Amino acid sequence: MSNRSRRHEAGDFTCIRCKQPVPSGSYGTKHRNHCPLCLWSRHVDDQTGDRRCACRQPMRPVGIEVRQSGEWAIIHRCCGCDTMRTNRVAGDDAELVLLALALRPVQSAPFPFDAYLRE
Ligand SMILES: [Zn+2]
Ligand SMILES: [Zn+2]
Repeated sequence: MSNRSRRHEAGDFTCIRCKQPVPSGSYGTKHRNHCPLCLWSRHVDDQTGDRRCACRQPMRPVGIEVRQSGEWAIIHRCCGCDTMRTNRVAGDDAELVLLALALRPVQSAPFPFDAYLRE
């Protein structure tokens, strides 16, 4: 345990929701700021990677943004102050959780779109 904590990198953190240890340096991102398992984040940055925000409240993943390059980004909303942020998807983020997030607006569409398909 003491060996592990000595090698603990500065940006490592424990997921605020599922309590998994999350290493900061991972494939596809320099500023890992969300959990690859549940995609929750924490409001610690004013600017990406600066860790200077005093809020420290959990940030809930609320949606997916598709960037011009075709790259996906996760939209997070802070449970404490309602700040919205978009964050790059990391290479090891759970694909099914990303997909569930992307499909969420379809599942809760505010109009009965399947009426067009009924016979
Ligand atoms: Zn998590
Ligand atoms: Zn906040």
